[in-house]
Amino acid sequence: MGLTRYFERRNLKHSGEPGDDAKEHDAPIFVIHEHKASNHHFDFRLECDGVLKSWAVPKGLSTDPREKRLAVETEDHPLAYASFEGVIPEGEYGAGPVLLWDEGPFDNATRQEGRPVTLTRALEDGFAEIRLHGHKLCGGYVLKKFDSAEGDDKWLIIKKADDEADARRNPVSTEPQSVKSGRKIDELKEQDQ
Ligand code: MN
Repeated sequence: MGLTRYFERRNLKHSGEPGDDAKEHDAPIFVIHEHKASNHHFDFRLECDGVLKSWAVPKGLSTDPREKRLAVETEDHPLAYASFEGVIPEGEYGAGPVLLWDEGPFDNATRQEGRPVTLTRALEDGFAEIRLHGHKLCGGYVLKKFDSAEGDDKWLIIKKADDEADARRNPVSTEPQSVKSGRKIDELKEQDQ
């Protein structure tokens, strides 16, 4: 996809969001932004091929393997977005506070016919298995594309039944603090970014 749509949708001078000036990490990283735009959602992002592949997850990720969470693919974001936290001003695309809810390295564990495949290939084929090493979320998750109709690619993101699975945890509601600033989303101010 590349970053064309990212730059088309924004005026970075006004929005305060980052441009394209970060280097790839030695180990690829994931981030989850909590984003209180016109609708409240979580943005799940995975480093892949020099950008952050991105999905809007209305309910956020679950630690319960029985919960299938809808993840709607959105535009690729620049790697520099991985450390972004702040408030996108009124009138800009996605106006509202953006909180760095979780971050960390991840491993691609996708296999096809018993063989490992690259994340690029896995995402193109609509099925990826990853292992997160975050502050709040750890262990295996599966991303599965189930619908490409009407322009938006729709995926499900599901916790694997592994040692880190825990149906009793609900970090989306019980762990609202930013891993960057310790604040909650309503405590972010425009001048913070
Ligand atoms: Mn968003």
